[in-house]
Amino acid sequence: MSDPGSDGPSVGDPASPERVAELTDALAAARDRLTAAAHDAGRDPGEIELLVVTKFHPASDVVALVDLGCRSFGESREPEAGRKAAAVRAAVDDTVRFDMIGTVQRRKATSVARWADRVHSVDREAVADALARGVDVAREDGDREGPLDVLVQINLDGDPDRGGVVLDDLDALADHVAGLDGLRLRGSMVIAPQSHTPARWMEQAAVAHARLVSAHRDATEFSAGMSGDLEDAVRHGSTCVRVGTAILGERPLRSP
Ligand SMILES: *Cc1c(COP(=O)(O)O)cnc(C)c1O
Repeated sequence: MSDPGSDGPSVGDPASPERVAELTDALAAARDRLTAAAHDAGRDPGEIELLVVTKFHPASDVVALVDLGCRSFGESREPEAGRKAAAVRAAVDDTVRFDMIGTVQRRKATSVARWADRVHSVDREAVADALARGVDVAREDGDREGPLDVLVQINLDGDPDRGGVVLDDLDALADHVAGLDGLRLRGSMVIAPQSHTPARWMEQAAVAHARLVSAHRDATEFSAGMSGDLEDAVRHGSTCVRVGTAILGERPLRSP
């Protein structure tokens, strides 16, 4: 799979047959869960995207998942994310999608703008501005063509350390993002606060998302639900569940 004659990004050794078997079973189980959740909610499973979160797992796992039919992945950290996206696209093809789901540091916004198909985690005007500038640079350098799709991350537990914009500031942030060249406001994202039961916070998130859509008609994407709470998210209208552990297993421990 890797090309010995090139010094470009490489995915390294392919996943072992045991690992491929493990991923095959776990992916099938996650897809079944998503389909069952959609049916329970009276929704069409085809309208809910399964974003496979591969952070901290090797590029060889991503390639194995592409072979199993996955086309879009979530990553959370630069520079690991950009390297992995480049390696996988070089090994497979450049239409494999990678989304940024983690906190974007301003000084890394330009590198994110080079590889990301969508950013789920815009939670401050300064980050939106940095991404918009990054899109300009990436376009000048020929690293991207179109605008960058973004979601505003909503914070429901009032703890700013966990990321996301608090509800009081949501409308202003959304208006700001919508006014930036280079970014396209596509919807909202939420992460479960620890302080509520999933069903309760999901209901609140859905209300906040509806408020966003009433002001921005095209911002219909609702990125909600992870391994532990995807059923609640689907019941409340999620259009994209971000599933890591349930498919890839526990994330390998990493030194900082
Ligand atoms: C890691 C992560 C996920 C995946 O979580 P799991 O519980 O492993 O499915 C989803 N969303 C975000 C923002 C994450 O950082």
